[in-house]
Amino acid sequence: MKILVPVKRVVDYNVKVRVRSDGSGVELNGVKMSINPFDEIAVEEAVRLREAGTASEVIVVSCGPAACQETLRGALAMGADRAILVETDAELQPLAVARLLKAIAEREHPRITLCGKQAIDDDANQTGQMLAALMGWPQATFASKMVVGEGTAEVTREIDGGLETLELKLPAVVTADLRLNEPRYATLPNIMKAKKKPLEVVSAASLGVDVAPRLRQTRHAEPPARKGGIKVADVAQLVDKLRNEAKVI
Ligand code: AMP
Repeated sequence: MKILVPVKRVVDYNVKVRVRSDGSGVELNGVKMSINPFDEIAVEEAVRLREAGTASEVIVVSCGPAACQETLRGALAMGADRAILVETDAELQPLAVARLLKAIAEREHPRITLCGKQAIDDDANQTGQMLAALMGWPQATFASKMVVGEGTAEVTREIDGGLETLELKLPAVVTADLRLNEPRYATLPNIMKAKKKPLEVVSAASLGVDVAPRLRQTRHAEPPARKGGIKVADVAQLVDKLRNEAKVI
């Protein structure tokens, strides 16, 4: 059973994101980029399934510029077997990524496509769902547990009211939530081994997919600066402030 794990290169979660002075977007020059944290969890889960003998191959795929090769090498160092870069310098929105992933899925025939639940740059939370719709496959989003059987997967999902368990027929799309696992660190020997693992570069244009953006971003702005808090002298003052000054925002 092949597992396909789409991984996105995003601004590292420790970076304080700044808007460019002309408001045209987020400053990416000199900014540390990393694998999207939820995709790292998806890679870990797929590698565990392969180590357990449930999966036969873990293929990681990234859509974007040549620099995504670094992200893919990181996933290979965690234990993925093979990588595909769908290379394009175009701005990719979730529908375009879903279409590119569909083209790869039609070529690779994965039984499970394990995405992150969302990318922490645009926070769209759309790509996995769109891919499932385009493929006509079942989906289970926000997975916190996965048990993969013969032809089906049982996925526990984190929902507002608690946990929900779904049984899906494979092939299916699953998206990984934070509590699915704790990803491993790549060891130095595995980082060295990853350099020799296969990484195929496919141009997005060669897949014949329309990746034109459907949404136009008109302006970017920093959120308004927040005023600092104050310390109250005693409970009476706290109650007074709650009564007379506190507002529901
Ligand atoms: P999003 O819908 O943008 O929040 O992304 C959800 C998930 O889709 C991510 O966690 C990745 O697994 C996948 N994804 C999004 N963009 C890309 C990309 N450019 N390349 C590969 N996978 C992606």
